[in-house]
Amino acid sequence: MEIKEMFLTPNKYSRPQIPLKKVTKIAVHYVGNPGSSAIANRNYFDGLAKSGARYVSAHFVVGLGGEVIQCIPTDEISYCTNQANSCSVSIECCHPDSTGRFTAETETALAELCAYLCRKFSLSADDIIRHYDVTGKQCPLYWSPTRYTSAEVANARFAAFKVRVKQAMGCEVGIIEDKPADGSFRVRVLDDALNIRAQPSLTAKICGVIRDKGVYTIVETQHGGNILWGKLKSGAGWISLGSKYVKRI
Ligand SMILES: [Zn+2]
Repeated sequence: MEIKEMFLTPNKYSRPQIPLKKVTKIAVHYVGNPGSSAIANRNYFDGLAKSGARYVSAHFVVGLGGEVIQCIPTDEISYCTNQANSCSVSIECCHPDSTGRFTAETETALAELCAYLCRKFSLSADDIIRHYDVTGKQCPLYWSPTRYTSAEVANARFAAFKVRVKQAMGCEVGIIEDKPADGSFRVRVLDDALNIRAQPSLTAKICGVIRDKGVYTIVETQHGGNILWGKLKSGAGWISLGSKYVKRI
């Protein structure tokens, strides 16, 4: 999950720059416009600066392919969740059709984004709310009771999603494990953006960036240019094991 920052032009309709002092909830929404893209929704919010049509926006939009666009910094409010705007970070999700069901890519990225935000604001997955929980609006539609979906089914869908967030968070909360016999070990990434390199060298090609401050398994180490490098179990490449960047757990 990568977050692309495309902040809205400050304006009173969608980015009023009112400080968001304390985040206690993460509010999930669906865009209600089947087939629309993350960038189209972001640009719609941005266009409100000129059109002044409505007061509406969201901190994040998750697209059909799992792309994540951040529209508003998380220390400013968005106009998304009514009375919860003053305490919540909001996420709008795209959906392919009128059922409002998210694609697998959208749901995966949303779970990772929620896990990231829970960590960032010291929240738990139980602090994730639906727009429905605040106002009763059928949003996100697929997770809300409707004429066609019972409350049990809707709530079970939402509960299953929160389990996914917990799993995404659990991966990095330092589960106690026997030390593996193969000599691998785990590190928690401390840096906001730790480069993954193709080879254990500062001059090697950057082939990825770890932004989630998660826990990663290192299967091999090597010195290169006065730096101790660790090879990621995933095969994605090598990261610096400097104490500034990671902590062995
Ligand atoms: Zn909503």
